[in-house]
Amino acid sequence: MVDCCSQPGLMPIETARARLLEALQPVAGTQTVPLTNAAGRVLAEPVISAVNLPPCDNSAMDGYALRFADAAAGQPLELIGKSFAGAPFEGVVNPGTCVRIMTGAAMPAGADTVVMQENVQAEAESIHLRTEVRAGDHVRRRGEDVAEGQTLLEAGTHISVAHIALLAAAGIGTVTVKRRPCIALFSTGDELRQPGEPLAEGDIYDSNRVALKAALQELDLETLDLGILPDNRDAITRALQKAAREADAVITSGGVSVGEADYTREVLEAQGEIGFWKVAMKPGKPFAFGRIQGTPFFGLPGNPVSALVTFYQLVLPALTVMCGSSWNGPATMQAKLLKPLKKKPGRTDFQRGIFRFVQEDGRGELVVEPVGAQGSHILTGLAAANCFIVLARDSGNADAGDTVTIEPLRAPLA
Ligand code: AMP
Ligand code: MG
Repeated sequence: MVDCCSQPGLMPIETARARLLEALQPVAGTQTVPLTNAAGRVLAEPVISAVNLPPCDNSAMDGYALRFADAAAGQPLELIGKSFAGAPFEGVVNPGTCVRIMTGAAMPAGADTVVMQENVQAEAESIHLRTEVRAGDHVRRRGEDVAEGQTLLEAGTHISVAHIALLAAAGIGTVTVKRRPCIALFSTGDELRQPGEPLAEGDIYDSNRVALKAALQELDLETLDLGILPDNRDAITRALQKAAREADAVITSGGVSVGEADYTREVLEAQGEIGFWKVAMKPGKPFAFGRIQGTPFFGLPGNPVSALVTFYQLVLPALTVMCGSSWNGPATMQAKLLKPLKKKPGRTDFQRGIFRFVQEDGRGELVVEPVGAQGSHILTGLAAANCFIVLARDSGNADAGDTVTIEPLRAPLA
C-alpha cells in the first residue's frame, strides 16, 4: 500500500502560502470610523501627530518644582505657589523659590527639577531638601513620547488597543481604515444539518460553517452566510455565482476531495479558474484555491479539524493581505516535548497540544504534550488544545525531551 505521506506531488505548505500571498490584493475602498470603533481595523493612511506628547514639560511626581542650581546649594527655599494638573502656576520660579507641584502639572517657568514630597521637609512658607537632587529629576519633557509632525502609525497597521491609546492621547478622534472584506461561506454535504435541527440516521451537524463564521467575525470581517448546500451541481453553481457577485471572497468546506459526491470540485472546474492542491500538511491535505468570476475562492477540506487547520494556516494569511495588512508569519516558540510523537516524513504536521510553563530550581521552561487522539475528525482534541505542535515536513518521529516548535492558538481556537 502506498503511504499517504510518501505520495509524490504534494505541495509544501510554504509554497502554498507563498502562492496565496502573491495571488491576493487588498480590497479597494476606505471608510472613516470613530476611534472608538477602530480596534481590529487596518489603517488606510498614516496617522501624523498634530501635537507634542507630552504637550508641555510636566511633573512625574507630587513634590516641589525648583531650580537645580538652588537645590545644589542646600538652602531653604521660599514656597511661592502651587501648580496642579489642569491649573498651572502662572508666575516664575526665581532663584531661592519653589512651587508645590502635582503629578501631571505643568512645570512653572524658571523651574527645571522636581523633588518628591517624601524627600522634603515642608513648612508653611518654605521647604528644606532632605536628599541630594539631580538636575532634571522627575520632569517629563515636552515631546519626549511623540514630537509634533511625527508619524504615529503607518498605513497597513492592524489597530490594537495600545494603538488606540496612542491615537487618543494625540487627540485623534477618527481614522481612515480599509474597507472590511465580505466573505461568503457555505458548507456542502447531503449529510449536514444545522445545529438545533433533528438528525436523521447518517446525518451530522455542520460544524465547519459555524466555526468558520465565528473565526471570520472574530477577525472583524463581514460574512455572507449561504448556509448548507446539498451535493447538487445546480445548487452549488447558483451559490457560487451569488457569492462571486456579492462578496470579496468565498470559503467553502467539503466536496473538494475525489469522492463521487464531491461536486464543488466539478462545478468549480466548469465555472472558474481553480487549482486543486494537495498540500503537504497534516491534517488538511486537499485544498482548493482559485477564482470564480474574479472572486478568490478557498475550498477547505470537509473534516472539521482539517477545515480549521487549513483556515488558520492558509486562508488567514490570505485574508490578512485582503484586509490591507501584511502577513508576518505565525508566532512560534520552542518547547520541550514531554511525550513521544509518531510522524512519517512527507507532510508538515500540526498536532494539537497543550503547552505550559514549568519552573524547577529557579529555572523555567516551556513544555508541551499532545492532547487527545489526532484524527482529522476529532474535535475534542482541538477544543482542549492551546497550541499546534508543528513538526517539519521531512522530520520523522519526535522523542520525549526533544525541542519542538509550537504555535500558540489564536483565541478562536484556544
Ligand atoms: P468531504 O470533503 O465532503 O468528502 O467531507 C469529508 C468529511 O468531512 C466527511 O466525513 C464529511 O461528513 C465531513 N464534513 C464535511 N463538511 C462538514 C461540515 N460542514 N461540518 C462537519 N463535518 C463535515
Ligand atoms: Mg461531502
